[in-house]
Amino acid sequence: MQKRVQIQSRKAQTVYLPLAASSITIHSRITSQSQSQNNIVKVCVTDHQKQETKCKKKYYHKLIVVLKKYQPREIQKQIVPQWNHQQQLLINNFNLFGNLLIDHTFILLTFHIHVHQYYILELLQQKRTQQFLVEEIKKPLFYKLQGQVPFKCVLNAFEAAGFERTDDDNWLLYWGLASKETLNEMKKYQKTNHFPGCWSVGRKDNLWIHLSKVKRRFPTEYSFIPNTYLLQYDFERFERIRECAPKKTLWIKKPVASARGNGIKLISKKSKLTADKRYLVMDYISNPHLINNFKYDLRVYVLITSTDPLRVYMYKDGLVRFATQEYSLKSSDIKKRFIHLTNFSVNKQSPNFIANNQDIGKQLKTSKWSHKEYKQQLMNQGINHKLLFKSIQDVVLKTCIAADPLLLENRITLEHKNNYFELFGFDILIDEKLKPWLLEVNVSPSLNSSSELDAQIKSQLISDMLHLIGLEYHTKKAFRIQIKKKLYERNINDIQSINSRNFKQKVNQEDLDVMIQSLEEQLRLGQFKCLYPNKKNIFEYEQYFEYPRFHNKLIQKYFEDGSNWVI
Ligand code: ADP
Repeated sequence: MQKRVQIQSRKAQTVYLPLAASSITIHSRITSQSQSQNNIVKVCVTDHQKQETKCKKKYYHKLIVVLKKYQPREIQKQIVPQWNHQQQLLINNFNLFGNLLIDHTFILLTFHIHVHQYYILELLQQKRTQQFLVEEIKKPLFYKLQGQVPFKCVLNAFEAAGFERTDDDNWLLYWGLASKETLNEMKKYQKTNHFPGCWSVGRKDNLWIHLSKVKRRFPTEYSFIPNTYLLQYDFERFERIRECAPKKTLWIKKPVASARGNGIKLISKKSKLTADKRYLVMDYISNPHLINNFKYDLRVYVLITSTDPLRVYMYKDGLVRFATQEYSLKSSDIKKRFIHLTNFSVNKQSPNFIANNQDIGKQLKTSKWSHKEYKQQLMNQGINHKLLFKSIQDVVLKTCIAADPLLLENRITLEHKNNYFELFGFDILIDEKLKPWLLEVNVSPSLNSSSELDAQIKSQLISDMLHLIGLEYHTKKAFRIQIKKKLYERNINDIQSINSRNFKQKVNQEDLDVMIQSLEEQLRLGQFKCLYPNKKNIFEYEQYFEYPRFHNKLIQKYFEDGSNWVI
């Protein structure tokens, strides 16, 4: 029998709620008296039309309790249990699937419409002495909004998750840019969707300032951002470069802090330019990869849930945005925005713009595609899209590593480091050699559902994101326990001597919680792919961090040790 370990911060009930209107996603633990050892019961819907949920007979009653509790209000369907000849429970007409993990004392239940696989974490194979029944959660869960009401897919996701809007301080989730005062007063269980330092990469000038620093150390590895000149500082240097450049060279001039293609124009050797501090100039990638002769760029959604350890996820789908006039480098065409800019907000004004309303047969003529449609097209052209997306992931992760020390600004307090998450929109241009270029990183990427395609991708994206970040339901009592907890500094060099036999003595409760949190997120990925920490690349990317982080190192050690620290 393994030793009982009390995980203090887990004394609270933990309910992770997400959910697209059509699905239910719950991640909760409930007390189980089961004596079985780490049994996994697969619960899956085999066919969307004829939905079946399967599980072994002996866990039937527990499953039913949870399912009854969590049937979404809109889908009040009768659960009709039947037993088939393999002693598996079939629940017809139930609009969800997931997996059920049962060990000595608790059930970990994850339902999600897109979860196909489930992993048992060695670290989770532990006995938790304090468990709560999910049924005990009676109070509503609240979100608070700052500024404008967000787009419909965000509101729908909140609603489907059973969240209600509040104007008080009793929120679990704050959506929008919160004031310093609000951030300072955040309680441990509250989360907000912007890091205080999000503009360190979210503004074009800052992105260049920070990435170019790393580029000096790693010129080849960080060559994915086009050379940029901040006119306030680099005007004269740029003019000298411009003078010596080949005749037909082009650059692109952009406002340092604007969006939607506003104020952007192409410039040539002859264009007039002044040292206007509101602008920057960037090398123009004049050889973009074209599809049907049109230029396009990719919107890639990237979620960061923590900075120490750094946790980065990239969404498996996204958007491809096309220009609406055929590509041309003729000097008479350089002012034509429908040729050179791929922004939706620019091209929707073009008479050639075609919205993607998922009309089969017309999809490939539309001005916006999903990544799925794009990959299919690349495959048809004999292009290895897996390789391309691998290099996109590399660009994303290297950018996030450069941003990592900046995101918390001066708020590197243990108290608040778990309060933030951020969904960034990366704009990536692919050149004809299939090299991805990072054009910019957007804070608050548009979640507007202007077409069926947008609505479909973004609703699932928000739902998956809310699920992944793991909002916790805390009782006041549990919170008091948490703030009393003492935190102390540890020496990063000690990590080297930690292994599966001694980690219980060497790793404190706070560190263990951080690790569990990181590994648990991987149970709630939905359509996100974990870029970091990832067993496969954690060693390779270590070199790019400005300085080593304690929890990155600890997780690295855990992987190095074969991921077998069992409590
Ligand atoms: P905004 O924030 O205004 O959308 P972007 O930096 O995303 O500004 O640029 C807008 C569009 O201009 C991009 O979608 C892309 O089509 C084009 N673009 C921007 N930078 C470059 C570049 N360096 N090379 C080629 N095209 C670019």
